Amino acid sequence: MNLDIKEAILKKIREYDRIMIFRHIRLDGDCVGSTKGLKAILQATFPEKEVFIIDEQVSDYLSFMGPDDEDVADEIYQSALGIVIDTGNEERISNQKYKLCKELIKIDHHINRSPYGDLMWVEEERSSACEMIAAFYGAFQDQLKITSRAATCIFTGMVTDSGRFRYEGVSGDTMRLAGLMLDQGIDTELLYAHLYLKDFDSLKFKSYVYDQMQLSPHGVASIYISKAAQREFDLSFEEACTAISALEAIRGCLCWIAFIESGDEMETIRVRLRSRFMAINQVAENYRGGGHACASGATVYTQEEVQSLLHDADQAVKEYKETHEGWM
Ligand code: AMP
Repeated sequence: MNLDIKEAILKKIREYDRIMIFRHIRLDGDCVGSTKGLKAILQATFPEKEVFIIDEQVSDYLSFMGPDDEDVADEIYQSALGIVIDTGNEERISNQKYKLCKELIKIDHHINRSPYGDLMWVEEERSSACEMIAAFYGAFQDQLKITSRAATCIFTGMVTDSGRFRYEGVSGDTMRLAGLMLDQGIDTELLYAHLYLKDFDSLKFKSYVYDQMQLSPHGVASIYISKAAQREFDLSFEEACTAISALEAIRGCLCWIAFIESGDEMETIRVRLRSRFMAINQVAENYRGGGHACASGATVYTQEEVQSLLHDADQAVKEYKETHEGWM
């Protein structure tokens, strides 16, 4: 079945002279890598086609994958095939002009609660959207061309979205497709330097997170990053959101959560939820969020909601611990 949908997508791509690729708000390695990787494959294979990624967002640590395109007139969108990658629902598509496109394809690995598009290829068990783009290339190696730049972008998302190939969704197929990308000639030393070198100041911030983290009765580790703390450490919002990673390996904490004040007029607080062994997405879904079983996001607006979400997560951990064995 999946080969059929991949074939249908390739057929659609062949039909169009213009292709516009879209991703989600709040850039990460997977949405940037998958969009840029597919664009590079399409440009190498079909040099006569125009391929655009138009997105106002920028991210310092992902900038090594190169800039996006300048915006174009609405007529260009209207004649284009739109491909949205790694974006579960339409509200999260960063460039809302995707609606102008003549036809739309959804390629995604999130739980498919909000189907959209004329064609849809969703594989929830894939560890990243980049893995799907690698699989797309893998299925049509005789028809598609790839470059080491494309492979680097795709490999980047495979690495970042799978926590360096550690998360549950990683399969033998993930590794085979990662191998296929490595075969194209990726400078992994340079790539990992881009992704993982830390600034001195960011480590100071990490030590603040360790100092301020809280523990709930049944083992939810959490951190609250106020706007004042972001100012104190001179952090961008995106940098502040990385606080979640400091909490990921605490024995007995099956769930860890970061609350980050956005500083907007709605006083939005972004919530990042992560878990090990147990699912946490149901809690996220009760607070305007969703995502994967063990990696979800949500949005809250008040301290009461912060406490309520923490309480719900604590109850979920309690229930899991009472009914399961073997967790750590
Ligand atoms: P994040 O903490 O932002 O990295 O999000 C973890 C996962 O949850 C990602 O796959 C996101 O796409 C997804 N996610 C984050 N926020 C939301 C939301 N408000 N609604 C649905 N999914 C979300």
